[in-house]
This record gives sequence, C-alpha cells and structure tokens, in this order.
Amino acid sequence: MSEFIPLSEPNIGGNAWKYVKQCLDTGWVSGAGAFVDQFEEKICKYTGSPYAVAVVNGTSGLQLALRLCGVRPGDEVLVPTLTFIAPINTVRYVGAEPVFMDCDNFMNLDPKKTEEFLKKECHVTRKGVINKKTHRIIKAIIPVHVFGNPCDMKEIMRVARRFNLKVIEDATESLGSRYTEGKYKGRHTGTIGDFGVFSFNGNKIATTGSGGTLITADKKLAAAAKHLSTQAKLDGVRYVHDDVGYNFRLTNMQAALGLAQLEQLPSFIKIKKSNYLAYKKAFSQIQGLDFLGIPKGVDPNYWFYSLSLSGPEQREALMAFLVKQGIQSRPVWELNHRQKPYAHNQSYRIEKSPEFRDRVLNIPCSSGLTSAKVNKVCSAIKEFVWKK
Ligand SMILES: *Cc1c(COP(=O)(O)O)cnc(C)c1O
Repeated sequence: MSEFIPLSEPNIGGNAWKYVKQCLDTGWVSGAGAFVDQFEEKICKYTGSPYAVAVVNGTSGLQLALRLCGVRPGDEVLVPTLTFIAPINTVRYVGAEPVFMDCDNFMNLDPKKTEEFLKKECHVTRKGVINKKTHRIIKAIIPVHVFGNPCDMKEIMRVARRFNLKVIEDATESLGSRYTEGKYKGRHTGTIGDFGVFSFNGNKIATTGSGGTLITADKKLAAAAKHLSTQAKLDGVRYVHDDVGYNFRLTNMQAALGLAQLEQLPSFIKIKKSNYLAYKKAFSQIQGLDFLGIPKGVDPNYWFYSLSLSGPEQREALMAFLVKQGIQSRPVWELNHRQKPYAHNQSYRIEKSPEFRDRVLNIPCSSGLTSAKVNKVCSAIKEFVWKK
C-alpha cells in the first residue's frame, strides 16, 4: 500500500525552523515580538493593503471587523449560504442575525440576487435599509471568496454602496488571489471592501498553525482593531482599559512561522496552479465529470480543486472508492441556512447552492503534492468513472 494522500496538508519549509528557533532561543514566544510586526508588514507588502492586524484566527478577525463596522445586536448581515460556517457564526457573536443569499456559477455570493433582495424585500429609510419581513436594519455584507476564486467584487461593491452596506471580505481561502481585469485590476482579494480577513489555519494555503489577519485601508480602524485584539489596554503598566476587548493577538512564534510561509507563498501558488492544470487536462477527457473553472479576469490562488459529479450518490461512491485507494476527498459544506442554529433565519431564492452542495467533491490540493500523486488521483478517478 503506497502513501496516503490527504486532502490538504501544511507545507512547512524555507525559513520556518530558523525563525521559530529564534523565538525559542530568545524567549519571545508570546503576544509581543518583532515577528508579529514583520508578518504584518509582509502581508501589507504582498497584498498592497496599507494596514494589517494579526489575530489568533480568521474567525476572530471577522468578528472584530463586524464590530468595527458598527454591526450591533438586532442588526442583520447578508451572507452566502454556501460557505464554511465560521463567518455566519461571527454574525451571531456580535448579536446580529444572518440573512442567507444564493451563489453564482463559481460558488460565490450572487450580487444580482442580493440586489434583487434589497430592492424587493427591503425599504431604504433614513435609518438604513430595513428588511420588510423582520423590520431589522441590514448593516453589512460578507462575500466569501470560495476556495480561492475571487467574488464579483465590482458588482458587490456597487450594490453595497447603493444600499449603504459595509463590506467585509472573507478572504480566508483566497490569500494571493487577484483581479487581472476591470475596475479592480491588480488588486488582491480582501483589499476592496471595508475590511478583508485572511486565515492561516493548518489547511489554508499558508499557515501559522492557527492564525488570521485583518486588513483595511483605514488607519483608525486598523488601530482600533489592534486595540480591541489586545484587551483594549490603554496602559500596559497600570492596566487601564477603555473598552471590552479580546485576547485575539497572534503570538510571535506563530508569526515567525507565518513569515516563513509568506516567503514561500508565491512558490506554493505556482505548484497549485500547475497541479490545477494537470487535473483539468486529465478530467477534460472524461465525460460527465465537470471540473470547476475560474471566473474571467482573475488570477486565483488555486487553493481547492472542485469536481462536480452527477449527484450525491455518485459523489458518495467516488469518495468511498478513493478512500480505498488511500486518497482523501471531501464534499462541499452543508448549506448554512439548513444548519441547526440558523434554520429559522431568512433566506432568499436559494437555487444554485443546493446543486453545488449535492454534487461537489474536493480532491487533494496540498502545495506539497507531487506530479506522481496528482497522476495517482487522476488514474483513480478515471478508473471509477470507467468502471460504471
Ligand atoms: C477557514 C475559514 C474561516 C475561518 O478561519 P479560521 O482561521 O479557521 O478561524 C472562515 N471562513 C472561511 C470561508 C474559511 O474557509
């Protein structure tokens, strides 16, 4: 039996050992230290964002962003139903309620239907946009760049500005993804809305073990985010605090690992892209098997690779077949408007998301995946399809 191929595993190399060792040797392992600053600077330089605040994970970054966007208890936030549950939960963390939107052909938030919802189901008042059904104020929208494919931010920003909504980009899966055409040509995902949030969890394209970063172009908001993430401490000697803060700051040791990972990120994306092309070529020869493409005018980070099968039965069968061959794969998330904590929340014209929910299977995508392993995965999938 040859080696097991996981869906996504960390790729630790470069200066990781050297930088982490420096933390261990000097004792700078905790919430302060030079690596945190260097990590933030590197993110700014790489993404072109003026400010970055490193936090313990992507989820806490989203929570801080919502709070700094003025989302308050009783407000509402528009979210996609097809995403990991973390951004939805953060809406509840600040006491607000999510309203679920459908996705487009790339599994990203559909701006057209979102605009239709705002036009048909809401009133624009002096206090803000009010949901006719719930009488709550809609404050913000969280587009998620699903699996690294950038959302249609031009349309999302137009709709958000028209209805005066704050925009928090969940770029946790899309570090390194950029627009190559149009209004945002050259811009990275995360740099367009009021806030963008990256994750450095173990399964993401670059990792700090667990970690996140919030980016913004607003100097005051960046300072406020850093303040809130460090217990809103005004005076570090006398422990004077002026707000209810959080213990959300990334540690120096994590930032050391993160800095080494950021140095390697361009090479990770290169490998992911070449593996994407190899998969695409292999699957183009198989009838009845769709491989999710890339929107026009973008250069993604190719984080995850999504196969689309004929339905849930075929997907489950393929998943089981691959496990027997030592290959891990995983279906896309359960839709959030069907999850227990959100079953009573409003949703609007969810039509495409269930299709993806039923058909998508993600296949191995680690940046350490060799061509031999890509070939092994392709052969196994071909064998499964031909056997039927
Ligand atoms: C990973 C992820 C998050 C959360 O990031 P953590 O660092 O794990 O807290 C949020 N949203 C999406 C879409 C993610 O994939």
